[in-house]
Order: sequence, then C-alpha cells, then structure tokens
Amino acid sequence: MTPYELIKAKRDGRELSAGDVRAFIAGFTAGTIPDYQMSSMCMAVFFRGLSDSELGAWTQAMLESGEVLDLSDISGIKVDKHSTGGVGDKVSLSLAPLAAACGVPVPMISGRGLGHTGGTLDKLESIPGFKVNLSVAEYRKMVREVGACLIGQTQSLAPADKKLYALRDVTGTVESLPLIASSIMSKKLAEGIDALVLDVKVGSGAFMKRLEDARLLARTMIAIGARMGRRVTALITDMDQPLGRTVGNALEVREAVDMLRGQGPSDYAEVTLALTAEMLVIGGKAKDAADARRLMAEAIRTGAAVEKLKEIVRWQGGDPAAIDDDARLPHAKAVEEVRAPSAGYVSGIECEAVGLAAGVLGAGRERVDSVIDPAVGFTLLRKVGDPVQKGEPLLRIHYNDPRRLEDVKARLLSAYRISPEAPARRPLIFERLE
Ligand code: URA
Repeated sequence: MTPYELIKAKRDGRELSAGDVRAFIAGFTAGTIPDYQMSSMCMAVFFRGLSDSELGAWTQAMLESGEVLDLSDISGIKVDKHSTGGVGDKVSLSLAPLAAACGVPVPMISGRGLGHTGGTLDKLESIPGFKVNLSVAEYRKMVREVGACLIGQTQSLAPADKKLYALRDVTGTVESLPLIASSIMSKKLAEGIDALVLDVKVGSGAFMKRLEDARLLARTMIAIGARMGRRVTALITDMDQPLGRTVGNALEVREAVDMLRGQGPSDYAEVTLALTAEMLVIGGKAKDAADARRLMAEAIRTGAAVEKLKEIVRWQGGDPAAIDDDARLPHAKAVEEVRAPSAGYVSGIECEAVGLAAGVLGAGRERVDSVIDPAVGFTLLRKVGDPVQKGEPLLRIHYNDPRRLEDVKARLLSAYRISPEAPARRPLIFERLE
C-alpha cells in the first residue's frame, strides 16, 4: 500500500501489517515520507491505537532505524532510567550521578522537552558549555571511565524516534500510549542497556492522567523489554503537581545540585531515591532497597554524588564550577511574585497548565525550531496541602521578556486551586510493577 493508503487504513481502524509499518517508519526516517504524512499517521494512531503486532513492528522499526549499541565489553550491569515525562521532573539530573557514584554504570539517552513537559537535554544545556551531542565512541568511553553519560539521540541511535519526537511535540500527537511506549523503548533498547527502570508519571501534568492508563503504559513497556530480553521495572509516581519546587531549565539544575547535597525538596528527593534504589538493586550493587538507601546516603554525605555530577559535566564539555557557583548558571533578568487571591489551602495545581505556562515564558518550544531560554521558569513557594493567606506569594516567575508576563501570570493563577479545607494527601509513589 502507498503511504496515503496506509494512513487511510489506520484512520478507518484497520490493522496494518508488520511489513507496512516497517516500510512507513523506514520511509519517514529516509525522508521519502514527508512530515505531513507522518503527522497524519500519528494522529490516526492517536485515535485508533496500535494492536500488539503493530506496536511490536513499530518499536522494532524505530529501534532498527539506527545502530543498536553493544556495551557488553564494559563491565557491570548497565542500567538506565526513563521517565514518561512531567513538569519539574529533574530526576535524571540527580539520579544518574547518584547511581554512578554507587557503582552502577548508567548509559542514558535522554529527550528534549515534549508538549508541556521539560526535557533532560534542555536542562543539561543550561550548564554553560555542556554538550549533549557526543559521538558513540565518546559515550562508550564515558560509561566505561566515568560510569555515566547523558546524551541526546545521535543520527545513529534510533533516528526515527529523534525525528518523530520533534514532530509529535508540535502536532498534538504526544499523548498516545503506543507512541510513547515505542518512543521510549526504541531509544532505550538502542543504547546498550542490560536493564531499565521506568518512572511512569500519572496525574494532571503527565501524559497519562489516570492510574489505569499509567499502569497499562508501564505494562506495555515492560512487555516490550521482556520480548527483547531486558529486565524492566517500573514505579508509577505522582505528577499531579510539579515535582520539587522549580520548573525551568537552569532552575532545575540548581535544585538537582541541592538534592545531591542532601538539601533537595522532600518529594523530589524521595522519587529520585526510590528510582535510584531500583537501579542499585537491579544493577547488583545493593541487596535490597534498604541496602541501596544506605549506599545512596553515604554517596550524598561524602559528596561523592555531587563530585560525580561535576565529573560528568567536565567530560561533556561543561563548566563544573557552575555546579558549586550558582552565579555561573543563567539567571533571568527579573522576578515577579504571583500572590494568592484568597486564603485557604492549596488544594490542587493544574500541572499541565504550569508546564504550558513555562513554555509560554520561553522554557519550552512552540515550534520545532524554537530557541529555549535556559534562565526562565518558576519557583513554587506553595505546593498542594500548604496553607496560604490572601496576598501571600504562591510562586515566583523568573522572566526575561516582560511581554509574556501577564499571560503567564493569568495561566498560573488559574492553575492554582485554593480551598477552605486541606486536601486529602495523594501518594507520591503509587505502585511498583515488574
Ligand atoms: N518520553 C519519550 O521518550 N517519548 C515519549 O513519547 C514520551 C516521553
């Protein structure tokens, strides 16, 4: 069938053959199928889903669009973590150095911001000089000698996902379970890992708003991993409000450094520690979660974790002094507070709206070629459950372009819900799947 016929078949709910799926992905990667046909196909998948056999073929085709690395010559069980995406989700920035400081090799291929969510690569690039486009040879050398490397997809690793990710970001086709599962698993399986820990987010700032959907996404990815002979575990974690206290690239780097010094906000620290503990156990460095907690506490107490982050930054061309000296990270020119319109308790923060507001401020992309402002973002002074008096600050906006301020302020004010009663507590970690 021609690409046009395949799009219509998917649109009308017919199942595509594995060969047709492979040909479509291959054509898109090679550029013979243009972006507009792929966008249309993604929209059809968004509404119609993919069968197990289509999903298997789609993931395999994305994986095989490039090189599949073999890191078996590097000793140790290589473990990566991947998040399905959230707002203020800076876990990778602290988890990779922490796991590496505890002896687990972490080959990590990360993404950029997607839809309303932030991306690890954009956050890392706010460190002056930091390069995310290393060659495969440099990546290997770092995993071997430093114990961790955080890069973006190269032209050789899952290039189909690199192209598709950027396209989905601007065409309203992100929140599709099969597209998310195949995107994550194709790049993770290409990077040479032995095992993978998934952070599947659920809530108003996640692509999966409901626990059942998050569970299904986790199970789908675990099954793809199992078919490919990799051990995959997943934690379903809360994304019903931003994680930690900051949203925005350089702001989140600062918070990650605080966390590695044992001074991070408790929700962010807890999610990082729980996921890193999974990695230490699966990576054979800890007997169980309690043992992992002891090892991580030691790496934080001795400063080994933050030193590992500096080593990663230095190896990737960044300025390691920026980790100790906050003045070397980008700062926004101005700060404005958003104040509570009434007294009560913060009973909810519409997390996707906060992510979109960060995008409007310049922390994310509106178009494939948008340039990110690394300095801008928010500091959340009140989070869900906190009491607040009328007129007290809810959050700070760090901004450079005053023309965007009013729109962003209005979005944030409508994202915060204030009620007379304290809300029921929501779990931070919902469940673990294996
Ligand atoms: N993260 C990814 O890598 N891909 C997605 O589609 C969503 C989150």
